[in-house]
Amino acid sequence: NDAHFPVPLSPDHVDWAAHYPELHMAAAAAGVPPPQVEFADVGCGFGGLTIRLAEAYPDKLIMAMELRDKVTEYVKERILALRKEQPGKYQNCSVVRTNAMKFITNFFRKGQLTKLFFLFADPHFKAANHRRRIIQRTLLAEYAYLLRPGGLLYTITDVEDLGDWQRDRLEAHPLFERVSDEELESDPAAQLLLEGTEEGQKVARNGGKTWRHVYRRIPGPADQ
Ligand code: SAM
Repeated sequence: NDAHFPVPLSPDHVDWAAHYPELHMAAAAAGVPPPQVEFADVGCGFGGLTIRLAEAYPDKLIMAMELRDKVTEYVKERILALRKEQPGKYQNCSVVRTNAMKFITNFFRKGQLTKLFFLFADPHFKAANHRRRIIQRTLLAEYAYLLRPGGLLYTITDVEDLGDWQRDRLEAHPLFERVSDEELESDPAAQLLLEGTEEGQKVARNGGKTWRHVYRRIPGPADQ
């Protein structure tokens, strides 16, 4: 129930310094504006991808978003433990409990994100639940708004029909174009999609197949 967690009115109402304290203190000491989040891991689960991204992209800020309270707490503790064990590292990742389908635009500004991840995120793969899916026409408009032109939206699922459906929605959207497998070979983030998360590892262990679709946000009339 959304009533049980606070929703920021706008990105300005998020306590970013509490999420990334060392980076904020360093920026303040240097007299420069604090760095902004560029990557969002939507439906982060136990946080495997976010942690791996923090390691692979030490200069980027990553925000994990998770609906379940206990799971969010787990990820929070996991990040704090890593920060303690390895001082100076993992300062660039954090987690927030929220319903990203409802509130993602309360957290980020237009064009702020360069990577947006949806890994095994969608439980609603039954036909009757189209409107509740995390990749769907109206939500793609919001994701396009948040992604900077050139930014990438990553999806992966172990449900073939859902993968096809996500691909078809992205194909149909005028602000997204497919990124080729060739191009993804040199993209470290794309390589993390399978092995980087708990769900991906589980699928791999069970010998399951996955469907990965990555799309680039292309410039549109509103970007001029
Ligand atoms: N991405 C992780 C991975 O690959 O291991 C977790 C996958 S798990 C199957 C899907 C997660 O998405 C769950 O933890 C669920 O609580 C979360 N989730 C589903 N809908 C969400 C929403 N609207 N906002 C935020 N998180 C959501």
